[in-house]
This record gives sequence, structure tokens and C-alpha cells, in this order.
Amino acid sequence: MKYTMAAGGVLTNTFKYNDKAFAQFVKDVSYNACTKHLYTLQELKHNASYVLEKIQDICTALGDYNLVFRSKVHEQNNLIDDGTEIIQPGHFNFFSVLELLDGVTVLFEKNEQNQYSRVVADGMSLTPPIIRECLSRTKEGDFVVSMKLMKELKAHLIKTLEQLHAKGVLTFIGQTNRNHTAIYPLGTVSIDDSTHRPNIHLRLGAPLCTVDIDLWFCVEGRTTKLGHHVMIPVDESETFKQDLWKEIVVERPNDDRYILTDPHKQLLCTLKLISYIYNMLVNKGELPQTIQTTCISSTSYIRTIVLYHQKTCISDSVGECFTNIINSESVKLFDECSANTFHVSTQDWFYPERRIYSDKAYTITMIWFLHNINNTFDTICSL
Ligand SMILES: [Zn+2]
Repeated sequence: MKYTMAAGGVLTNTFKYNDKAFAQFVKDVSYNACTKHLYTLQELKHNASYVLEKIQDICTALGDYNLVFRSKVHEQNNLIDDGTEIIQPGHFNFFSVLELLDGVTVLFEKNEQNQYSRVVADGMSLTPPIIRECLSRTKEGDFVVSMKLMKELKAHLIKTLEQLHAKGVLTFIGQTNRNHTAIYPLGTVSIDDSTHRPNIHLRLGAPLCTVDIDLWFCVEGRTTKLGHHVMIPVDESETFKQDLWKEIVVERPNDDRYILTDPHKQLLCTLKLISYIYNMLVNKGELPQTIQTTCISSTSYIRTIVLYHQKTCISDSVGECFTNIINSESVKLFDECSANTFHVSTQDWFYPERRIYSDKAYTITMIWFLHNINNTFDTICSL
């Protein structure tokens, strides 16, 4: 890469952005960090199909262990084709649709904010005792599927992994902390020890690297012009309410409005790299305690802000795009809505009633990069 992150020059009072420098930075970073330049397509495809196969094996075995938890696995859009994966193919999202909770036994009820739903069960048709124990009664007398289901599911999944270990299908090393970063041999798997998350996090030794897998057991949703939707359980911290579900799009539609242009893909890779560095600092505890963070700078937040940027972008310089996007994120730091929180937010691209959140500390990290690249460029030019 051409630029180092060392702070060298002194910013003048008449601060001017050098879009040429930013454009070079974005191009260099995206080229050097993107997995499609670091691995062959064959290696990436082999890695992805290995992970998919293992997850299918695990979910099939879970359904065999207890019929109540039979499910069908879907993978979210493949980042190999998208070309916006960075560093290593180390993260996968899978959605496994529970057959028991199909359209016959479950009704979706939108709640008052029209953002989240409750999965209302017909008590008579959900006869398995495990499921009956996972239903909660609402004030209105409805039976709704509660998050107890996810706890039961996880307990059964652990038993399933133990069985697969005994059969020699994989090496199960038990429960571990979600944030640990150990490198696993091929076929070694662990499950995170969290007891309150709506999804299951697995870590697996894959051919190219150790991968983190977010596995969402979910309910079949609609198919619209946007594509295939599923309902996933919602983390209580998102709504401060229990037992809510939300709809998400599993496969992004093949439509220009949802597809990034090549320069904006480079921009996404660059912002993801900044997020990667930010998350490393948070996980290593190297950020001062005065910087409050929940470490929620997510790929979906970054992709969403780039999509909104693209919608109105008229620039032909990706350097200008980089400046514009960071400037508009900076404005959110002082925005009234986020004045007393540690987060900034943006409208969900597919569900405009909902918001997606990111840490303010991530925005500050972006600004730090912006200023230091400018600074470094100034220094190089003045030598
Ligand atoms: Zn742009």
C-alpha cells in the first residue's frame, strides 16, 4: 500500500481534502484487502462449499436427533460473487427454516410499530411438548413462540454436535467465548457460550481459515419482488421487548437499485477494512475505557450507508465518495437523535420503518482515517 497510517504533517487552518489521495487509498486498500485478490476463485468456492456442507450435516443430524427441529438451510448472498469480502473468507450467515413452524401452524401479527412481529401459534396444532413449553401467553390470550425455543434448540444442537463428534464426522471442542480468536484445525467446531442470543454462533476450522458462522433458525417468510424473506428472532436489546421476530431478505435482489457499482464496491471494502481494524482494537481492549462501545459496527450498516450514498452520488471520483460518506456520518455524531446515545443509525434499506445501528466510536475511527490520509499525503507532497 502506498500510504502508511503514521501521522506526520500538520493540518493547516484552511483544511482541504485531497480527493486524489483518497481515491488512491480506496483503490489500494480494496485491491490489497479483497479476498478475490488474495485467493483463487477455486479456493474460495471450495472453502464456501465445505462450510455449507458441514452446516447442512449439522442441521440434518439435529432434525434426526429430534424431529421437532428439522430444518432446511439457506445461505445468504454469496460474497465471493459480490467481490466485497475482505482479508479472509471468515464469516458466513446461514438461515435454517424450521419445518414445524410453517404457514399452517403460525400466523404473523405485526405489532403496533409495524416493524416487528410476533409469531402466534395455533396451540392445538403445535403438539410436541418441547414446543408447547416454548409458548408464552400474551395479554390478549394468544400463544406466541418465545425465545425459550432458541434455548431448547441450542441444547439439542450441543447434543447433536457431541453425537457427530462420537461418530468422527467432526471434532467438537465444546462451548467457547464468542470473541475468542483461536485457529482451529480442519473440521474442528465450537459453539459460543452465550445464553441470550437469538442466533447460534459456531466457529469452524475450514480449508482456508477458521470461520465464524451465524446460524439463524427461522420461520419461512414471504416471497416478494425483493426475493425470499424469512422471520428471525430479535435480540431483546434491539427492542427492549421479549419474543419479537423480524423479517429479513435472505437473498438480495438482482436489481440495479440493490447492486453496488465497482467504485462503490471498492468504497465498501475500504470502510469494511476500517471496521475490521476498529473491531480488532475493541476486542483487544486497546481503546480507552472512556470510549463507550458495544462493538456493533456491522457489515449490514456499512453496506446500507454505501447504498444510500450511491442513490444520490453524482461523483466520478471514488475519493470524493469516501469524503462525502464520512462527512455525512460525522454529522450524525452531533445529531439530536443520537446526542445521548453511543450509537448512530440509518434507515434499513429493505425495511424503511426499521433502523440499523453502529457505534459512534466506529464513526470516529473513520474520521481518524480521513484526517490521517490527508495528513500523510500533505507530508509526502511537502518532502
Ligand atoms: Zn459515490
